[in-house]
Order: sequence, then structure tokens, then C-alpha cells
Amino acid sequence: MTGQNAIVTGGARGIGAAIARRFVEEGATVTIGDVLGPEGEELAAGLGETARFALLDVTDAGSWSAVVAQAEEAYGPVSVLINNAGILQIDSIEEQEPASFRRVTDVNLYGAWLGLHTTIPSLRRAGGGVVVNISSTAGLMGYAGLGAYTASKWGLRGLAKTAALELAADGVRVCSVHPGPIRTPMTAEMGEEIVVGQPIARYGAPEEVAAMVLFIVAEATYSTGCEFVVDGGATTGSTLLGDET
Ligand code: NAP
Repeated sequence: MTGQNAIVTGGARGIGAAIARRFVEEGATVTIGDVLGPEGEELAAGLGETARFALLDVTDAGSWSAVVAQAEEAYGPVSVLINNAGILQIDSIEEQEPASFRRVTDVNLYGAWLGLHTTIPSLRRAGGGVVVNISSTAGLMGYAGLGAYTASKWGLRGLAKTAALELAADGVRVCSVHPGPIRTPMTAEMGEEIVVGQPIARYGAPEEVAAMVLFIVAEATYSTGCEFVVDGGATTGSTLLGDET
């Protein structure tokens, strides 16, 4: 990762923080963008001179322009964009307020589109690069109670495919990552029942997602426009054989 210059959105904690930490360990320079100022500042300070924090609201175009400009000024053109910032709201389609649907899709999907839209010139100046949209198993299947979230995560998957087609000539690869249940502040209130029945019947760690993202960026040079699943087998299927399996 030496010579790679990354922006990781929602990087102050959880999966984004694990990605930022791993990238720095592997030699990249990283701008951690998040709405959580104190957590982001603390993380970046602990990572040393090759990491910096920038206040970023992914739904705000001006915020994106400023962060991309700062990242370039600090470390040069941006070669890696990790669209990781996301929020979750549990509500049925019937009960969810329109403003809540809009907020979830704004942060999760529009925020990633805006990130791509703003960063493309910098990726070109870098001579190519990699974009990873952090989707979810909710971008591979449906979840009752997660209408907005599921719509946004399928959207991220489609956006990655379209961006892969549009940016291939510029040497930019774009993929989506689909984590299953991962132990982070987002899932802090959720119990073990979520992982019962998975082939690997436990929550994943943020570092396990970071390892996949690192692989995509640093090693997966023949992969673009495609999905990478990190879900303990959650989307593999169902069993009719009972508990003994
Ligand atoms: P997390 O711990 O809640 O971290 C997400 C970060 O994004 C938080 O710091 C959050 O700040 C920030 N954020 C929210 N809105 C933002 C905005 N408008 N602009 C910039 N940053 C913003 O969640 P996580 O579990 O690490 O999730 C990271 C990504 O993985 C999300 O896209 C999530 O949907 C996806 N994912 C997670 C799981 C899981 O089981 N944890 C599974 C599949 C996919 P606030 O706290 O202020 O909102």
C-alpha cells in the first residue's frame, strides 16, 4: 500500500476505523472522514503522521470538495476511496416516516455517489486507483424492517458496477463489499440470535472486513464491478437438517 493515498468515510469508528488502521499499517496515507470529530481526531493522532482526520458529512457537496482538496494537499492525488459511512434505521415500509427513508438513503447511497462524483478528477490525477463501496448482505437479499437500508445497499452495489464501467479506461477499479453481522457500535444493541444458523455462527470483527478491503485494493487487480462477501456464510442458504449440523 506504499504510495496509495486513501479517503475512508465514516472512518472514526467501527469498520471504517479498522480499514483506516490497516491501511496505515500497510504503508498508505489515509484521510479519515467522519461527522464524529473527537473520535476521528483521536484515532488519527494515534496512527501518526500518515493519517489525518477531516470533518466530513458525506451528504454535503461542499464538505466533500474541501476534504478531497485537503487530502490532495496533504498527501497528493487520491488513489483509494472507501465509501463506508452508513446509518441503519429499523422500520417497516408502512411505518417508516418519509424523512427517515430519505435520511438513510441520503447518507448511505447519495453520500457515496457524491464521494465518487467529487473524487473522480483526483483519481485520474493519481493515474488510476480503487473505489470500494461498503454495502451489506442487505445489498444481496431483503430484510424485513430494513426497507431504506436495503434499498440503499442494493444501490451501492449497482453504483459500483456502473462506476466500474465508466472508470475502467482511467485505470480505476470499483467493487462492493457485503459484510454480514459485524460487532461495531451499529450492532451494539443486537443479540446473538442474528448469527444463529450461519455456517460461522458468530459476529465478524471489523478487522475481518478490513482484511477483505485491503485484498481488493492491494491484490485483486483483475476484479472490478463485482461483489466481495464477508458474512460468515449468512447468505449461503438454509438447512433442513436441524441443529446437529
Ligand atoms: P458505525 O460504527 O456506526 O460507523 C459508521 C460511521 O459513519 C460512524 O462514525 C458514523 O457517525 C459515520 N457517519 C454517519 N453518518 C455520516 C455522514 N453523514 N457523514 C460521514 N460519516 C457519517 O457502523 P459500522 O458498523 O462500522 O458500519 C460501517 C459501514 O458498514 C456502514 O455503511 C454499514 O452500513 C456497513 N455494514 C455494517 C455491518 C455491521 O454489522 N456492523 C454489516 C454490513 C454492513 P454517527 O455515529 O454520528 O452516525
